[in-house]
Amino acid sequence: MIKGRIHSFQSLGTVDGPGIRFVVFMQGCNLRCGCCHNPDTWDMTQGKEYTAEEILSKVLRFREYFGEKGGITLSGGEPLVQSDFAYEVFRLCHENGINTCLDTSGSILNDSVKKLLTVTDRVLLDIKYADDESYHKYVGCSLEKPLEFLSYLNEQSVPVTLRQVIIPTLNDTAKNIFFLNKLSKKYSCIDKTELLPFRKICQVKYDEMKIDFPFRDIPVPIKGKMDELNKLIN
Ligand code: SF4
Repeated sequence: MIKGRIHSFQSLGTVDGPGIRFVVFMQGCNLRCGCCHNPDTWDMTQGKEYTAEEILSKVLRFREYFGEKGGITLSGGEPLVQSDFAYEVFRLCHENGINTCLDTSGSILNDSVKKLLTVTDRVLLDIKYADDESYHKYVGCSLEKPLEFLSYLNEQSVPVTLRQVIIPTLNDTAKNIFFLNKLSKKYSCIDKTELLPFRKICQVKYDEMKIDFPFRDIPVPIKGKMDELNKLIN
């Protein structure tokens, strides 16, 4: 029986997908983003093993809170690193009428991931920067990867919420928002764009792990910045 490595759970999440959600933070990530607030999910040898049935039984305990929109969200880390296991979790959730949502950087697209997307009701796709150079420098892959992923989601008509963490000096510009607008114009699967402010509460995790937080000197967005950028979204 396939098992997955899980970092932690959040039972009543309200920011990772529609409605109230049971959020599963999975262990493992193929990228190393400078802004990462969960570096403790990177190491695949950490976390705890669960079967898909064990995850389902946890989710079912919160079913009454989900209403029409809520359900399960797989986040991380990068859930696509454990796509076979993620498929089993979502398949069981669908059998039980639970809405499924995938929070991903969209940097892996293989047959296993494609299968996972057949049981995915929504993707929260993080587009981190608008240019390839920043992707290589601050993420660890090319911008082409999430764009190929997005194109596939569009072909398969999987609803997408586009998300971006706004990082002062790196992507807090109108130009950046116009790039997101361009994507939502091009791909009809995108029905929402969300901007999230860069935060530094993760500093303590980096300190505990005794590794450098690459964005330690970057400030959080100044007051009013998020409103200003949100107004540019169309
Ligand atoms: S993809 Fe997510 S978990 Fe992985 S390094 Fe980037 S921010 Fe962190």
